[in-house]
Amino acid sequence: MKRKRESIFKAGYVIGLLIISVAAFMWYSHKLKDELRGLVRNTLKEVSNQNVLVMQKEIEWDLAALEEIAERISAMGETDEGEILDVLRRIEERYSFKRFGFCRADGIVHTTVDEMADVSEREYFRASMQGESYISDPLIDIMDGEEIIVFSAPIKSDGEVIGVLCAPYRMDGLKEILEVSSFEGEGYTYVIERDGDKIVDSTHPTSFRNMTNIFKSMTEADERNDQAVEDLKLLLDAGQTGYVIFYNKVGKYMYATPLGIKDWFLIDVVPVDFMENTSNYIINRTYIMCGILAVVCAVIAFLIMSEERRKKQRIQNLLYVDELTGGNTLARFKIEVERRMQVHYKKLAIIMMDLDDFKLVNELFGYEEGNKVLRFLSRTLKESCCDGEFTGRSNADRFYILFLYEEEKEIKQRILKLAENIQRLRMSETMEYLLHPVFGIYYVKAGDDNVEDMMDCAALAHNMAKQARNSTYKVYTDEIKEKELQKKQLSDQIEHAYRNHEFIVYYQPKYDSITRKLAGAEALVRWRRADGQMVSPGLFVPLAEESGFVCKLDEYVFREVCLAQKRWMDKGLDIVPVSVNLSRRHLDNPEFINEYKAILDESGVPIEYIQLEITESAMFEKKEDFVQIMERLHDLGFMILMDDFGTGYSSLMMLKSIPIDVMKLDKSFVDDYDDERGERIIRCVMRMAQDLSIAITAEGVETEAQYRFLTSVGCDTIQGYYFARPMPEEEYELRMQA
Ligand code: C2E
Ligand code: MG
Ligand code: MG
Repeated sequence: MKRKRESIFKAGYVIGLLIISVAAFMWYSHKLKDELRGLVRNTLKEVSNQNVLVMQKEIEWDLAALEEIAERISAMGETDEGEILDVLRRIEERYSFKRFGFCRADGIVHTTVDEMADVSEREYFRASMQGESYISDPLIDIMDGEEIIVFSAPIKSDGEVIGVLCAPYRMDGLKEILEVSSFEGEGYTYVIERDGDKIVDSTHPTSFRNMTNIFKSMTEADERNDQAVEDLKLLLDAGQTGYVIFYNKVGKYMYATPLGIKDWFLIDVVPVDFMENTSNYIINRTYIMCGILAVVCAVIAFLIMSEERRKKQRIQNLLYVDELTGGNTLARFKIEVERRMQVHYKKLAIIMMDLDDFKLVNELFGYEEGNKVLRFLSRTLKESCCDGEFTGRSNADRFYILFLYEEEKEIKQRILKLAENIQRLRMSETMEYLLHPVFGIYYVKAGDDNVEDMMDCAALAHNMAKQARNSTYKVYTDEIKEKELQKKQLSDQIEHAYRNHEFIVYYQPKYDSITRKLAGAEALVRWRRADGQMVSPGLFVPLAEESGFVCKLDEYVFREVCLAQKRWMDKGLDIVPVSVNLSRRHLDNPEFINEYKAILDESGVPIEYIQLEITESAMFEKKEDFVQIMERLHDLGFMILMDDFGTGYSSLMMLKSIPIDVMKLDKSFVDDYDDERGERIIRCVMRMAQDLSIAITAEGVETEAQYRFLTSVGCDTIQGYYFARPMPEEEYELRMQA
């Protein structure tokens, strides 16, 4: 769920980033286009202004020149036409006029080319006769039909206009001025009147042919130009500078600027494409650069992300992959269980498994073989998993499994099958060795939500299975938990009870099998609470062993027994040897030997009256130390009794290396005496013990029949309810006296 939310967030993040980038890019290119268009318009404006200047200069200069000549003629006073024309002819070449003409108030013009004409009807004549200098609209030359404009200026005498000096100017001359190539020959220029009528048109191949009115030509060229015509009309009416875009085969800018001469406008035309080529080039380059940048960024982002992913994977591997077996770690197991719990399509069972004897595997076959066993276990567990199931290793040989099920019995069957598969592993060619997997099962209940708690429950059930010998699995129940709680409370109370003198020693007599006389006793610790309630040693001894407190307890019992024996000796009683139990935890600290010896010496009891019992299974924990400790104790003079013989793994041959004086046949052997196989085993053990000169004590003898049988096979001493239960000191004292 968390992961899904994370990836939705990531996708949203990337999409958001993409949208922002695209929007930013679009905004930027829009801005760039605008700026470049502005730049284009500025260029157009500058070129147009240039043309206006050229035109103004040309016309104004010519008009000014004409006015100056008119003044000079005026200054000549009353002169005849011939003289005036001579003057004009002399200067004619200096100016770009076609010719000069002079007329008096009658409107008959005398020209420098000796032609005469009547211009009394011409506007320029009339205007100049009013005292104005004037430039005419385009006219047809009366003399040769050429298109011209006429410049005119008044000639005065004593302040009175007496005539007009006029000079036609060829339109072609104006055209030539305007046709100076602009925009690499792509642009051209018109001069028009405010109403659109042509003053000067262009010979450029893409200009309007035979234009008389610019609006008319625009309308005819393309029907899309209606708006442009309207806009241009507005511009001209307002006498403003501005541009429109119109179509004549291609889109073109038309830039209008008032010429400042009459109501004439200069119109510069240039194709949109030409103007925008450069900006398009820049924009395209920008697009390409942005594209490359985006690709580079994407590649870098991809590389960074892959590296991140690889790093994450490596960390996850460290966290989630068990280095030794290649299977899942416990961390991964927990995460997967949590995930399955959310899906919940089937019932879940959490199972804990380990081997009853993995330590032994390591000791017998070495660590490398031990590791192989772990890999084999991981593989076998994995193979037993179906879809949606998985395993994880916690530590050493401890594995967790998640199984899905419909009915509980399926799980039990699968576990037995799994145990069978595990037991198929052949550890050695020469030695028959079976692995003993033990399982604890926890069926996940509705409302369970803490994986660790569920695993603890599986571990509790597993613990129970381990304690109960010969059981492959146990299912968690609330009673198990209850018992665990009690154990915990007990374990917390032991030390306090010790200080409170709640521990006392009971004695269980042992009898000679033949004479039926008291032959010894075993000292057994008892916990009697302040309220008189007894706590079973079966409950608290294992707890004390776990915490190590048992050593203190053993020493206490040892001392109590020494003191009691001394008291009885002093009373003159015929004491018999009393055996004291020695926990396996003493093997951790062999110093206890000296302490025990000191206690014994201090009590003054001869060493033959105190014996030591150690369980057979303790031998496997630290075999070397065990033998040494036993030898030292034996050398000191203690008799060594091997307790619970038959519950461990020792063979009788192994006993050879340990100085054992007495072997205590475990109750489980005694109980099985009446089954054929049990009987045979007892007989065999007896025979071998006798060969090794080891005496035998049978434990847990409860019936006459057991007693008889054991006596008949040669048991030396008998301990059990048949003769006596463990009893308080006073009661035992009475037995000694009997
Ligand atoms: P263990 O050393 O094998 O002691 C013999 C146990 O068998 C005693 O149980 C005894 O009461 C019981 N027993 C004897 N005869 C019979 C019988 O005929 N029938 C049945 N059902 N049981 C019989 P207890 O006293 O409950 O002690 C249990 C175990 O606790 C002992 O087994 C021993 O391993 C441990 N333990 C007791 N006292 C001490 C102690 O002072 N130190 C240490 N380290 N362990 C002790
Ligand atoms: Mg014992
Ligand atoms: Mg025993």
